[in-house]
Amino acid sequence: MSIVPVTICMQDRPDGPITELAVIGETIAPGLAITPGIQEDGSLHGGWTITHLLSGRMVFTTSVCLTCLRIAARKLTESDIDWTRTMESLVADPVVLPLVRAFAIAANACEGETCSVLTDQLVG
Ligand SMILES: [Zn+2]
Repeated sequence: MSIVPVTICMQDRPDGPITELAVIGETIAPGLAITPGIQEDGSLHGGWTITHLLSGRMVFTTSVCLTCLRIAARKLTESDIDWTRTMESLVADPVVLPLVRAFAIAANACEGETCSVLTDQLVG
């Protein structure tokens, strides 16, 4: 795990212009990093997400606290998937989508800025 510069690539619609944003991230596996979550208008939403480093694409775009994200990210990092592959290669791999879905379901358990998982850790 290390802090690295990350370029997030955002696109409002499939044929729309790509906006690149420079942020910092923490690598959690080769090819994947935790980064600040960015909303469509380019502002921070207060949560965290996972970004695929090669494509700059965020894997998940709703507000998730760091603790919940780290827990959910195990669904991705404990697999044998090579996340340094291109996004096209990953999307075409039938093993990847169920992993990303499992990650998204686990991350969706987060209650955002008022998340009790986070609060429990801060208090406890
Ligand atoms: Zn949470």
